[in-house]
Amino acid sequence: MLNVSGLKDGIVLDHIQAGMSTKIFNYLGLEKLDCQVAMIRNARSSKMGRKDIIKIEGGLDMVDLDVLGYLDHNITINIIKDEKIVEKRCLKLPKRLTNVLKCKNPRCITTDDKGLPHIFFLANEETQTYRCLYCEETASK
Ligand SMILES: [Zn+2]
Repeated sequence: MLNVSGLKDGIVLDHIQAGMSTKIFNYLGLEKLDCQVAMIRNARSSKMGRKDIIKIEGGLDMVDLDVLGYLDHNITINIIKDEKIVEKRCLKLPKRLTNVLKCKNPRCITTDDKGLPHIFFLANEETQTYRCLYCEETASK
């Protein structure tokens, strides 16, 4: 049973791979938020052995689900209302990522044209490979 004490309304990201919470924190830009954010590292898990958990005060709009789905689609999102879990959501791999990854190909059009959004598409679901929309360069996590 997930302990949500101390969080009245918000979301809990559960089943984060142990050690990954800092990366997720940075990718989501959580340091920019004014609300309460708690990271729990190496929590015991019957399913995973060890896991990380992030608790965020506020609504689901605080986090980018596409970014989360890209980083780790095994994360469970628990939505908390009045200190109770009212909904659980699973993530899936996003088909497209906009301005999450940057293309590293020096000859890519996004290197010259700074105004272009960096768009990556899911090229292979099995290997979770993303490619640049413009030059098809493979993205690396
Ligand atoms: Zn590119």
